[in-house]
Amino acid sequence: MIPRFSPHLDIADISEALFHRAGRVEEFEKSIAQQFGARVGVAFPYGRTAQWAFFKCMGIEGAEIVMPAYTCSVVAHAVSLSGNHPIFVDIDLSDYNMDLDQFERAITERTRSVIATHTFGYPENCDRIREIVETKSQKFGHKIWLMQDCCHCFGAKWKGDYVGNQGDVAVYAFNVSKHLTSIFGGMLTFPDEGTAAKVRKWRDENLAPATWTKALKRMLYLGAVTLAFDPRIYKATWFLSERTKFLNRFTKTFHLDSQIHFPGDYRIQMTDTEAAVGLKKLPQYDSIIRTRKENAEAWFDALSGQRDWQRAPLVEGATYSHYVVRVPDRDAVINDFAAKNIHLGNLIQYSIPDLPCYADLNQSCPNSKLASQSLINLPVTEPSERIRRWIAKYLKS
Ligand SMILES: *Cc1c(COP(=O)(O)O)cnc(C)c1O
Repeated sequence: MIPRFSPHLDIADISEALFHRAGRVEEFEKSIAQQFGARVGVAFPYGRTAQWAFFKCMGIEGAEIVMPAYTCSVVAHAVSLSGNHPIFVDIDLSDYNMDLDQFERAITERTRSVIATHTFGYPENCDRIREIVETKSQKFGHKIWLMQDCCHCFGAKWKGDYVGNQGDVAVYAFNVSKHLTSIFGGMLTFPDEGTAAKVRKWRDENLAPATWTKALKRMLYLGAVTLAFDPRIYKATWFLSERTKFLNRFTKTFHLDSQIHFPGDYRIQMTDTEAAVGLKKLPQYDSIIRTRKENAEAWFDALSGQRDWQRAPLVEGATYSHYVVRVPDRDAVINDFAAKNIHLGNLIQYSIPDLPCYADLNQSCPNSKLASQSLINLPVTEPSERIRRWIAKYLKS
């Protein structure tokens, strides 16, 4: 069966994690910063911890933080748990990014930070975002911190420069569903050393050092995920996750959509074990993104005949963390493809303002809701020849 996504893990990664040298976290910080054109990287246990820590460290509290309605729920949780209020902006259905006219209107005198997310790897218009943020900062007479959320778009570019460089800070996450994995983990990168040094100091004073028990748990998780995604047994993984609730026990530890919740170890620093895996994966970045682009192109062409399906665009500089289409009857399509041995995803299946924990804010966003109910994402991590063979067999015959 063709998997929904692949973390690109194998036995060599497990041995890397087992037999790593010390100091891998610092090396991972340097390598990520270098790879994506930033000055400094500061590692965190999760992407969400990195976002939460940034607001805490900057003394942003009781403020409004403007962010997209259609993104990973943990971003809103990071805003809430840092003592701030998320203000949700609806998306544009052409590329699933924030509607920038609504974004502009959402910034008030209470706004202290904004999160620009390049959803599914589609670069946002960074010139316009920077201009809006600068104008509003001047108007309200205080700094509005611009955070680039690069979790879907590690190396995406706007007009030839990395999107991560077009703000005060960028956030990356490395769980197994991202472009590159370090088992878990997150990072902030900075274009300047002053802010980075301040955040690093705050992190070391407020997070507990990594422990060997955490490293051991991460090792076991790495082993389990590598096995689950092994092509020889992936069909069983699909069955356990889609036809039973068995695997929920594992994933619910890290992610609860409907509650404002962080995992228990969110304040324990990233382990060298994790960084060792991230460092091993990093040289594969270019080939991982090339495959994603080839597959996005293959799906875009293959689905041109499906008249009532809305394909996501092909865009210069995009990295395709996912390649999505909106379909009228999502479950029927997912079941039909599963019968043809291909596992589709339905990411992101909620609009954050409609989640029970944010419903009181009454900020419903119709486009975000529509996307959450009708999107499917097609596999983009398999070698593109395999995807093209599947297309030739099932869509072209
Ligand atoms: C994955 C993700 C995060 C944070 O990820 P963690 O699971 O906390 O490491 C933040 N923003 C977006 C858009 C994401 O996809």
